[in-house]
Amino acid sequence: MTRDWLAAIGEDPQREGLMRTPHRVAKAWAYMTEGYGQTLAEVVGEGVFAAEGSEMVIVKDIEFYSMCEHHMLPFYGRAHVAYIPNSKILGLSKFARIVDLYSRRLQVQERITTQVADAVEELLAPKGVAVLMEGIHLCMAMRGVQKQNSSTTTSAMRGLFRSDPRTRAEFMSAVQGTLRGR
Ligand SMILES: [Zn+2]
Repeated sequence: MTRDWLAAIGEDPQREGLMRTPHRVAKAWAYMTEGYGQTLAEVVGEGVFAAEGSEMVIVKDIEFYSMCEHHMLPFYGRAHVAYIPNSKILGLSKFARIVDLYSRRLQVQERITTQVADAVEELLAPKGVAVLMEGIHLCMAMRGVQKQNSSTTTSAMRGLFRSDPRTRAEFMSAVQGTLRGR
């Protein structure tokens, strides 16, 4: 498959530097699309606990790497997830696992954002959940559709983050613009 692709773009699949490329591509793609073979229950495991308070929890700067389904090129950036517990909390390391679960597929950033929010809702039934993702899309940057440094922001706001402007503002001021600052 990769061999055909190499030939189609005018390469010689037999030249030395490309001999093992199909093998390497297959391995890389298996990793980058690992999310298809996993479930939310598997990645969360025993990570849900009883809540002791109801203060906002914000997990910032979760790195994500995904592949756009329109061009099969990478997009990557940072995800920020916040929630207000009701009766359950989630171990902090699990948020990164959830982001990976949905990122390691062919995706659009909007869908990952929604899926992460849905997952937190499903697991914790919190008073509110917010997800903000900031991504750089190589399908735009490499093809010169946009300036290299422009990023795409997507968000999903549920419960109190949707109904209470102060809660939303507290989250947004805590997380916004962290990608560009690096
Ligand atoms: Zn694309």
